[in-house]
Amino acid sequence: MQEYDGLDNFRIMTALKIDLHSHTHYSDRQLSPEELVMRAHNMQVDALAITDHDTTAAIEQANAFQAQQTRQMQIIAGVELSTAWHGFDIHVIGLNVDIHNTQFKQRLDEQSQSRERRALSIGEKLTKCGLAGVYEKAKTRAGKGQITRAHFASAMVDMSYVDSFDSAFKKYLGKGKRAHVKPQWITIEQAVKWIRDAGGKAVLAHPGHYQLTAKWLRRLLVQFKEAGGIGIEVRHPRISPQVRQQLAIYAAEYGFEASVGSDFHYPNKWTELGRNLSIPDELTPVWHDWHLDVVEIEK
Ligand code: AMP
Ligand code: MN
Ligand code: MN
Ligand code: MN
Repeated sequence: MQEYDGLDNFRIMTALKIDLHSHTHYSDRQLSPEELVMRAHNMQVDALAITDHDTTAAIEQANAFQAQQTRQMQIIAGVELSTAWHGFDIHVIGLNVDIHNTQFKQRLDEQSQSRERRALSIGEKLTKCGLAGVYEKAKTRAGKGQITRAHFASAMVDMSYVDSFDSAFKKYLGKGKRAHVKPQWITIEQAVKWIRDAGGKAVLAHPGHYQLTAKWLRRLLVQFKEAGGIGIEVRHPRISPQVRQQLAIYAAEYGFEASVGSDFHYPNKWTELGRNLSIPDELTPVWHDWHLDVVEIEK
């Protein structure tokens, strides 16, 4: 293992395929940790962070599976924490967290219980709207994983209560809709503290997804920075070239390290592990001070 610094380090490392945001069936999508790791190999990914919603349950399984592979790939222990900020659901990614940290595990358990309580309330509201049995179906779909609104939406499609996943949000599950339940998520400050206490780096997930005005996005960035946030995602799916450029400008302006992630949930034509995730030259990658075993340097 070797350490490098400065520009040299950066140029070489960007040649690697690094994807720091992905999901397994322990949160809201379908691949097992093994299937996700296998897919990442097929996509020639060199470092993959698994960042399920409010759980690190996939990491040990993914590591065990990776240990049997011949192709090198570094699995980064990650998590995506839900936070509440002025009525917005803001997601904070923790990278390189210690999944064995007892306090961290307890904290994640609390957030899971909060998820479960919200899920029960969503189910009750849907029943009142005449859509019975959705909670049970969503729970079955979630299996051992965290129950999310995505499970509710899929269950509603399966039960023919709505004609598409998106319309489940538009009609029932979205903010201000009939079965919306205000989540009791932690604050941004708590999320950053949880991640730091577990030895990780806190990264603001997909800043282009919150539909915030420029003024509010700046407020968010300032508050995240003050809380101890280290990086922001500057490349993530479904953003325009303009927003992408703006995120790079914000990262430089506020002194954030740059993270990148596909936010891969399931195979589809819009997102793929490790695709289009290069970062602008002038930014410091969030992995600049990591020991990536996969790095092979030619001197
Ligand atoms: P939760 O963390 O339980 O609130 O669920 C969040 C998940 O639901 C996200 O990761 C998305 O997969 C999905 N989701 C949230 N809002 C929408 C929306 N407006 N349209 C489609 N999917 C959404
Ligand atoms: Mn998700
Ligand atoms: Mn997210
Ligand atoms: Mn995500």
